[in-house]
Amino acid sequence: MILFDFELERPGTPADAVALLERLHGDARVLAGGTDLVPNMRAELIKPGVLVSLGAIAPEAPATLPDGALRIDAFSRLAELERSELVRARAPMLAESARAVGGNQVREMGTLGGNLCQESRCLYFNQRHDYQFAAPCYKLGGDRCYPFPTNKRDTCWSVYMSDVAPALIALGAEIEILSAKGIRRISAEDLFTGNGLRPLALDAAELVRAVIVPAPAPRTGWAFHKSTVRGGLEFGMAVIAVRLELAGDGKTCAGARIAIGAVRERPVRPAAAERALADAAPDDARLADAAAAAAKEVNPLPHHGFTKRYLMDNIRVHLRRLLVRAVERAGGPQA
Ligand SMILES: Cc1cc2nc3c(=O)[nH]c(=O)nc-3n(C[C@H](O)[C@H](O)[C@H](O)COP(=O)(O)OP(=O)(O)OC[C@H]3O[C@@H](n4cnc5c(N)ncnc54)[C@H](O)[C@@H]3O)c2cc1C
Ligand code: SF4
Repeated sequence: MILFDFELERPGTPADAVALLERLHGDARVLAGGTDLVPNMRAELIKPGVLVSLGAIAPEAPATLPDGALRIDAFSRLAELERSELVRARAPMLAESARAVGGNQVREMGTLGGNLCQESRCLYFNQRHDYQFAAPCYKLGGDRCYPFPTNKRDTCWSVYMSDVAPALIALGAEIEILSAKGIRRISAEDLFTGNGLRPLALDAAELVRAVIVPAPAPRTGWAFHKSTVRGGLEFGMAVIAVRLELAGDGKTCAGARIAIGAVRERPVRPAAAERALADAAPDDARLADAAAAAAKEVNPLPHHGFTKRYLMDNIRVHLRRLLVRAVERAGGPQA
């Protein structure tokens, strides 16, 4: 698969990068590790005229902010997060989610920002189209959707598959976004539109610059699981991240954040299940009920050969186990 011609720019600073993106008016794409973008360009799913490479900009090391939060440069490679002692100590779920991505080569090249800004996926979309006698789908500007033929033109159920995004959402992280106008901060969940046609709430001239993970409260536990068929070098069929906080008595759940990824156009927080856990004893029955409720609430899309029923069962079973582990890590009930 030979790449088409394009221009390559290598700005030396983030400010120069956003100035370039602003000037190029949407004809440009940011190139970070290239592990998502380049295969999509080879398949001619994305055809930018100019690539703005971040390769000449050295990422800052992860650092603790005065309020105890952790700031991680979005240009950092996933392997750096996986290895960083600070990240592993202060946000172990983030390190674990980074380790879940692809294989070693993908993590050595792939960046945090690129992982968050990866394109959503669908069996029809993620194939070469030039040798097929098939008309393009909605996401490619066409007039049909192959897996979901009754969908209207404004709906695309391609699935967003980042492993890191659910962990950041469960951790209550914020995203620092840089543009020529300056910096804005949004919650990690607000980075996503929920529409597979345009999954990110990001302007073409904006860069994800950093991720801020707040310091955890005392008696906080976490748990993360990515389900795959082979167990490696593979996108998830469902990715689940949980952060749970116990009250001062060590017996009551003060609150839980659950994020479930790789099953819809964006990572989903099952709000009703989270509410059912808050201010209640996290006993086995309550955790099992919350997991079952979450599986229904998320309403997974069938994707990559996995049926909705199978994905609901997967979420129910794994989320229950993760909730038990998070309670134990928070210092709560042990078996
Ligand atoms: C074999 C293989 C297996 C994979 N497995 C997984 C997996 O298991 N889990 C998973 O989550 N991903 C997986 N991926 C997808 C991808 O490799 C990773 O998500 C990786 O982290 C992407 O980062 P990158 O730096 O290479 O992004 P790039 O490919 O450089 O960029 C991806 C997209 O993000 C944009 N972008 C990059 N950086 C920024 C930024 N700072 N601000 C704004 N936009 C930006 C680019 O313009 C592009 O549209 C896999 C890829 C391959 C090839
Ligand atoms: S789900 Fe989206 S990407 Fe897949 S065929 Fe339909 S419109 Fe295209």
